[in-house]
Amino acid sequence: MLAKVAIDLALDRLFTYEVPQELEKKLAVGQLLSVPFGSRVVRGFVMELETGDQESEAGNYKLKKIISIVDEVPFFSERLLDIVRRIAQWTVSPVESVLKAAVPAAVLKPGAHEKTQLYVDPADGKAGAAKKGDGLDVLTRRQAWVYENLVRLGGGWMHQLCAELGTTATIFRELERKGCAKIEERQRFRAPLARRQVVPSKALALNPGQVEALEKILKAEKPVLLHGITGSGKTEIYLQAIARKLEEGRGAIVMVPEIALTPQTVQRFASRFGDKVAVLHSALSDGERYDEWHRIRSGKALVVVGPRSAVFAPVKDLGIIIVDEEHEGSYKQEDTPRYNARDVAVLRGKIEGALVVLGSATPSLESYRNAQTGKYSCVTLTERAGGGTLPAVRLVDMDDGGETGIYSQELLAAIAKRLDRGEQTILFLNRRGYSRSLTCESCGGTVDCDSCDTPYTYHRADNCLRCHLCGGWRELPRRCPHCGSDRLSYRGIGTQRAEIALQKCFRRARILRMDADSTRGKNSHDDILGAFRRHEADILLGTQMIAKGLDFPNVTLVGVLNADQSLNMPDFRAAERTFQLLAQVSGRAGRSRLPGEVVIQTRNASNPAIKAACACDYVGFAAGELADRREAGLPPWTHLSVIRFKSRDRELAERWARFYSEMLAKAPGKMRVSDAMPSAIEKQEGYFRYQVVITSELISPVVSAYRQAAAQCPPPKAVKMAIDIDAHNIV
Ligand code: ADP
Ligand code: ZN
Ligand code: ZN
Repeated sequence: MLAKVAIDLALDRLFTYEVPQELEKKLAVGQLLSVPFGSRVVRGFVMELETGDQESEAGNYKLKKIISIVDEVPFFSERLLDIVRRIAQWTVSPVESVLKAAVPAAVLKPGAHEKTQLYVDPADGKAGAAKKGDGLDVLTRRQAWVYENLVRLGGGWMHQLCAELGTTATIFRELERKGCAKIEERQRFRAPLARRQVVPSKALALNPGQVEALEKILKAEKPVLLHGITGSGKTEIYLQAIARKLEEGRGAIVMVPEIALTPQTVQRFASRFGDKVAVLHSALSDGERYDEWHRIRSGKALVVVGPRSAVFAPVKDLGIIIVDEEHEGSYKQEDTPRYNARDVAVLRGKIEGALVVLGSATPSLESYRNAQTGKYSCVTLTERAGGGTLPAVRLVDMDDGGETGIYSQELLAAIAKRLDRGEQTILFLNRRGYSRSLTCESCGGTVDCDSCDTPYTYHRADNCLRCHLCGGWRELPRRCPHCGSDRLSYRGIGTQRAEIALQKCFRRARILRMDADSTRGKNSHDDILGAFRRHEADILLGTQMIAKGLDFPNVTLVGVLNADQSLNMPDFRAAERTFQLLAQVSGRAGRSRLPGEVVIQTRNASNPAIKAACACDYVGFAAGELADRREAGLPPWTHLSVIRFKSRDRELAERWARFYSEMLAKAPGKMRVSDAMPSAIEKQEGYFRYQVVITSELISPVVSAYRQAAAQCPPPKAVKMAIDIDAHNIV
């Protein structure tokens, strides 16, 4: 018997090993193995097994033998392996890279994170006799009391019993010696949910719109787009659909954007399904992730909540996959393998016979169009379930009437009203740091990061300049690096400066700031939101972190300080993103009985995306944007792929981009190939970046042309090249 094994070397090929006789019966695809490789021993996954003719397969040299099976339970089912192979194919990535993306790194070191602890069980044994007091086995009064409590509790973890009963381990050892207790090491799962108290919740009585949506979802034969405004009760529908699948003994995956993976979201699932829920996200420790993943694989946890990598979770008998906020860019991985977890969810649903629900208040135009063409079915919810109404949205034209500050008069008045009434406000500004850049008033130049040629951002907290592209920093210069003038001033507004300006206007207001700088610690994200929820602050000021999924009943005002930031991005999705962002942010207001108000500040008051967002008119926005995209030959009417080149040598990067552009333009198959062009971010971390953009009706000709070109004319080592199929960002 022969095994084809994928080894983590990014070589994009499988290696064949001979299976020793004693392993033949135990070996299965998807298992993790230990195999010899050169002079080393490495780990690898079994991809294929075959009973081959060893002589011919091996040719002249002898095949090496598998050393051992690291874990007999496969990490991947055959179906999951099938999905992995297809993703490798689609995204033009080595199959090992997909395997690696699919399993948390912590899990690949079996045993390393396993945690055992002492567990105490009451034993009947001589207890009865002991209590009656014959001979040496007599229990002291203290021991008898501990024993009685142990029986009452029915056993428990040693350290917890000690804490609860105010005793030490010695007493349990004594009990064991006297035959009244049994102590053993047991594996203990570190459950990240246990850190907080979970209050059980019951299913709500659905409103008629929700009933219809749930029925449609449960009967669906294709993916369902659940298009419901924020607060329309989508999450309640997810919960009840999952409950149905659990009744059938099947499992569920719920994907949420990392940013929305707050305790609040997780708790809604945990309080309905208890310890059947497992959470996978980046804030977990390695040990926690290890345990959660094993709880899933062993079938102890049937509902997985996590970000994009959760789509690979080894859930047994998967019944439903939910992709919440399906339009979110974070479902697309920006590194090899560049997969979109939403598309993988659709594929996995098809292969495993599971329902797929894509939920959003502002569906991606790709999904919206799939619903229009009938590839997906669609359910729409237009009313808020909790009884709240959609907020009134007002636009403030910052070019009008001499508004100069960060805050318009109108917004300030609205905030003051909330402070008076004891209601809360959320303010949104999508730029962290104190201010945008340090600009010279003599020559107009900015202080830029040398490796990225991009202006630094001033950070007040540590009084330095930081580059938001490479993370580098420098001290404040005294003089302009271009002309030597000392007249440097700050331009643009970041969250820190907005906070200080706000505090000046409202001295007594309690303000919380939430951005990447204020949430570095493991729990600070939760801490800030928790404090705001408990009304320990009046105003929450933050970046896009606060835009999603949060449900604060006492918030009646949402202010967007600068709606134009995302509109000015050099990307064809800028209008779509702006609409989504504004709609999401607005959705934070008026979630309960209190009516909500939204104030949007902009210098592009006549922009269609901004106007549509104000009117909460998704359908109107989508119709206009789809027509524009069709005319321009852009997604969702086509597939857009980007080949990226980067090198420390500008000319080299450009030359190879040009070469590939010319080569692909001649390739067979219908596609439109751009000239080589510098990326919008031309230089990053010392690399010059060029790209070629390809639009095509089908993906396959692009993939085969690229594969062929890369095989025949690979660029030299000094040029890094990669293709991004269905790219999300073209910057
Ligand atoms: P979405 O996920 O669409 O934003 P949620 O499921 O979070 O909406 O629901 C918004 C609010 O409405 C929540 O506070 C939720 O508890 C409440 N809610 C949802 N469905 C119902 C229902 N059928 N009856 C009463 N309240 C509901
Ligand atoms: Zn930089
Ligand atoms: Zn200058």
